[in-house]
Amino acid sequence: MIVAEQVADVRQAVHDAHRRTLSVGCVPTMGALHAGHVSLIEAARRECRFAAVTIFVNPTQFGPHEDFTRYPRPLENDLELCRQAGVDLVFAPRAETLYPPGFGTFVDVEPLAQVLEGAFRPGHFRGVATVVLKLLNIVQPDAAYFGRKDFQQQLLIRKMCRDLDLAVEIRTCPTVREPGGLALSSRNRFLAGGDRQKALVLSQALLLAERRLQAGEQDVQTVCAEMRRHMESARGVAVDYATVADPETLVELAVPIADMVALVAARVGSTRLIDNLVLSLERPS
Ligand code: AMP
Repeated sequence: MIVAEQVADVRQAVHDAHRRTLSVGCVPTMGALHAGHVSLIEAARRECRFAAVTIFVNPTQFGPHEDFTRYPRPLENDLELCRQAGVDLVFAPRAETLYPPGFGTFVDVEPLAQVLEGAFRPGHFRGVATVVLKLLNIVQPDAAYFGRKDFQQQLLIRKMCRDLDLAVEIRTCPTVREPGGLALSSRNRFLAGGDRQKALVLSQALLLAERRLQAGEQDVQTVCAEMRRHMESARGVAVDYATVADPETLVELAVPIADMVALVAARVGSTRLIDNLVLSLERPS
């Protein structure tokens, strides 16, 4: 496995892979890898002959009062996980490499960047879109793999690639969960004591929405209020949003449509978590 810190080394490795006619798959991450990330790596390996992982805690996507400094950075562990998962190339740059003095170009993906996560984390998606565009330009993969866990993010990246004519296939992979339903997240390690149990209210709220809508509830706002009430029933859980939206536009719904996505964000103790569930009113045939 090649471990590169410099852009030129990544370009060389990918150039060599392409010369050997290997298709290249890329999995962008912030590290602190878990089974969710590994599922993306496995998808990349299934569909591409050369798997690249990027590990970079991107400062521009964190707000001034967010958890950038406390975000976990277990690089040696991550490299070992990548080795075991059969990764060919890891790009783990320093912040100065991606953002040298004088850096001043950013990408805004409108209007998706303004709603939901964007409304609660101003500037977040500007940082995400900018770094993902840079990483895709550096690695130049045939396909890039993202998790449905970050539903708005994968939608925004798809739109950016469409709007800016990037020649990369964007793949979205299912959310990997713990047996109790909690979506795996690098931030779960901050859940102290009873917080891990309380965090289950997020996935429970999503299942509640699915149940109510599939049972025929016609008032989406009622369902959203129930999701919010369920999450707030756990002490120390503060809800940022609980909504049901169109899965293409993220416009919040008043009445149900055939395909929807329920999305929630809440702070559990000092840890902010997000989750979502794509739901359909069509009966599986
Ligand atoms: P992160 O390191 O949190 O920026 O995540 C890197 C990629 O892994 C993103 O595309 C995430 O959506 C994806 N990811 C994170 N958690 C999960 C999960 N539980 N299941 C599937 N994908 C995930």
